[in-house]
Amino acid sequence: MSLSFEIQRSTAARTDAERAAVLADPGFGVHFTDHMVRISWTKERGWHDAAVLPYGPITLDPSAAVFHYAQEIFEGLKAYRHADGSIWLFRPEKNAARLQTSADRLMLPHLPADDFIEAVRQLVTVDAAWVPEANGEQSLYIRPFMIASEPFLGIRAAEGVTFYVIASPAGRYFGAAGVAGIDIWVTDEWARAGIGGTGAAKCGGNYAASLVAQYEGYEHGCTQVMFIEPAGKDRVEELGGMNIFLISADGDLITPELTGTILDGVTRDSILTVAADLGLTPREERLSASEVLGGIASGRFTEAFCCGTAAVISPIAGFKSHHGEWRLAEQSFTRTLGLRDAILDIQYGRSEDRHGWLRRVV
Ligand SMILES: *Cc1c(COP(=O)(O)O)cnc(C)c1O
Repeated sequence: MSLSFEIQRSTAARTDAERAAVLADPGFGVHFTDHMVRISWTKERGWHDAAVLPYGPITLDPSAAVFHYAQEIFEGLKAYRHADGSIWLFRPEKNAARLQTSADRLMLPHLPADDFIEAVRQLVTVDAAWVPEANGEQSLYIRPFMIASEPFLGIRAAEGVTFYVIASPAGRYFGAAGVAGIDIWVTDEWARAGIGGTGAAKCGGNYAASLVAQYEGYEHGCTQVMFIEPAGKDRVEELGGMNIFLISADGDLITPELTGTILDGVTRDSILTVAADLGLTPREERLSASEVLGGIASGRFTEAFCCGTAAVISPIAGFKSHHGEWRLAEQSFTRTLGLRDAILDIQYGRSEDRHGWLRRVV
């Protein structure tokens, strides 16, 4: 039976003028809407007490398992406002399914897909005024997450878990650099995840593990890091929080195959699906670092980009590592930006939703 949601409206909601000031320059992940969703789970009762509540701090016991053993998973999706004012989600069932995959890996309970989508729908409906006009590329970023909230320091799967959904109005993730081309630091020293590890789960621990490489990248003027599987030192995986693609001069669109250490991105899957419409041949392959960097040097790969819900598609201008620097031949990113527009046009309702990816909320 699906959950029903109790709605407790905030008495401290921002005024129209305050909200307008935030939406004028939302940034990314700094401002949050007036409400949040909370659903509790215990081993005895299953999922219960679903509610939309005023946004605010969470009270947890200091011994809550999540603080000690990182039993936590999350999701990321967006709500888009179309020109007629209606509000839509993009493939939320993929996020619902992936949360379950992540839950399996981290020994957290399955939240039924219908309840996941309903939780998101409830929040977006109550906070609909926070979904910005498209205005270039604005949206409401939605962050569902699940934590082991049971107060217990023993090592086992938590028997008390809480699921939340919060939302944040978002502008362009990398600012203007998002379409101007970013530089990528290549590391085979640090791993964000390993074989048999949690790389295919969307969990905070993978991000904590990626930060040291990310900061090494910053020191070399790079915005993001590309991880190479460090045991064999040759298999290209992905970035800290985004998948990666290369485009060859003859129109192949190649991304590393899903090996269990890479996150199965919704944007990645959507790009593979629309590729043919843009005259590109999608391929999921094992890619070695030498093949990628050598291919850039030889002119085989002329464009590269990274992708994820937050940043959509960001063209890559070049790669750097301790061993050298590689610039992509094509710095106007024609095909990358074509793919970017194709995805954005579907999300914002500017082109026909031929794959049935949009779900109307409001
Ligand atoms: C979320 C995420 C992505 C992108 O997934 P999308 O579903 O496209 O947003 C890629 N890699 C990692 C590690 C991620 O956490």
